[in-house]
Amino acid sequence: MTKRFERVALIGIGLIGSSLCHAIRDAGLAGHIAAHARSAQTRAKVRELGLADSVHETAAEAVIEADLVILCSPIGTYGAIAREIAGSLKAGAILTDVGSVKSAVVRDVSPHVPPSVHFIPGHPIAGTEQSGPESGFASLFANRWCILTPLPGTDPAAVTRLEEFWRSCGSNVEKMTPEHHDLVLAITSHLPHLIAYNIVATAADLEEVTSSEVIKYSAGGFRDFTRIAASDPTMWRDVFLNNREAVLEMLGRFSEDLSALQRAIRWGDGDTLFNLFTRAREVRRGIIAAGQDTAAPDFGRRTS
Ligand code: NAP
Repeated sequence: MTKRFERVALIGIGLIGSSLCHAIRDAGLAGHIAAHARSAQTRAKVRELGLADSVHETAAEAVIEADLVILCSPIGTYGAIAREIAGSLKAGAILTDVGSVKSAVVRDVSPHVPPSVHFIPGHPIAGTEQSGPESGFASLFANRWCILTPLPGTDPAAVTRLEEFWRSCGSNVEKMTPEHHDLVLAITSHLPHLIAYNIVATAADLEEVTSSEVIKYSAGGFRDFTRIAASDPTMWRDVFLNNREAVLEMLGRFSEDLSALQRAIRWGDGDTLFNLFTRAREVRRGIIAAGQDTAAPDFGRRTS
C-alpha cells in the first residue's frame, strides 16, 4: 500500500492545518497540497509562507480530485463545510477531520457524506496555545497520539491507509468509539481548559490583589494556567458546545472532589490533603515516564 496520496486537501489553515502542511511535505505524503482558508488574509499568508501547492477561495474547489480531505477548522464549521463540499468529493476519497470532539462531528458531517466516500473521524492529541498559519511546525504530531473513531461498516483498507498517514506524520494511532473519545478527552483536555479559563478569570476579577501582583508573582503556579487559557476562544467555545454531556459529567465529579478538598482544608485534615497530593504526583511521573512530557521546568515546550 502506498503511503503517498496524489492530492491532499486541507480545509482551515491554522495551527493544526499548517502543521499538517509541514508534516506532509517533510514526509513526502502528498503529490499536491490544496488549501482553503476562510479569510483572504489567511489565504494570502498561506501563499506567502508557501504552505500549500494551491490555495482556493472555496472549500468545494479545494477538494476537487483530492484523495484525502482533512477538515482543520473549528468544529462548529464542519456541518456547513461538509454540506458545501459533498458534491465535489472524489469517489473513493477519504474524508477525515482533526476536531477535538467526535460524536458531534459524526452527527454534523455524516449526513452529507456521499456513499462512495470513506468518512473516518480523527483527532490528533497535539497542540499548543498558538493559532494561525504561522504557528504550525512539522514535529507537532511527533510522538503524540492520534485517535481515529471509524464508524461501523467503514472500509478497513481506508482506515489502515489513514492510520499509515498519521504514523508517517510521527504519531501513534489508537482507535475507539466517538463516545469513548469524548469522555476521555473531557477529563484529559476539556475540563483542564475550563478550569484554566476560570481561574484566570477569577484572578482578573479580584479586588484585594492587583493585576500587577498577579502577573509579578505568576510563577507560583498561575503562569501555567495562563498558558492553557491563551488557547483560541472560538475553538474552545465550539468544544464545550459540542461535548456538553461528557464535560458536565466530568465537571460534576470534579466539583464533588473539590468540595472534599475544601472540607479537608476547613477541618485541618492534613492526611487527606497529603494522600491526594501524593497520588497526583504519581500521575505526573507516569506522564513523564510515558514520554508525553518532559521534566524540564518549562515542560520542554516550544516557546517561539
Ligand atoms: P486555528 O489556529 O484557530 O485555525 C483555524 C482555521 O480555521 C483558520 O485558518 C480559520 O481561517 C479557519 N476557519 C474558521 N472558520 C472557517 C470556515 N467556516 N471555513 C473554512 N475555514 C475556517 O485553529 P486550530 O488550533 O488549528 O484548530 C483547528 C481544529 O483543530 C479545531 O477543530 C480543533 O478542535 C482541532 N484541534 C486543535 C488543537 C489545538 O491544540 N489547537 C489540537 C487538536 C485538535 P481564518 O484564519 O481565515 O479565520
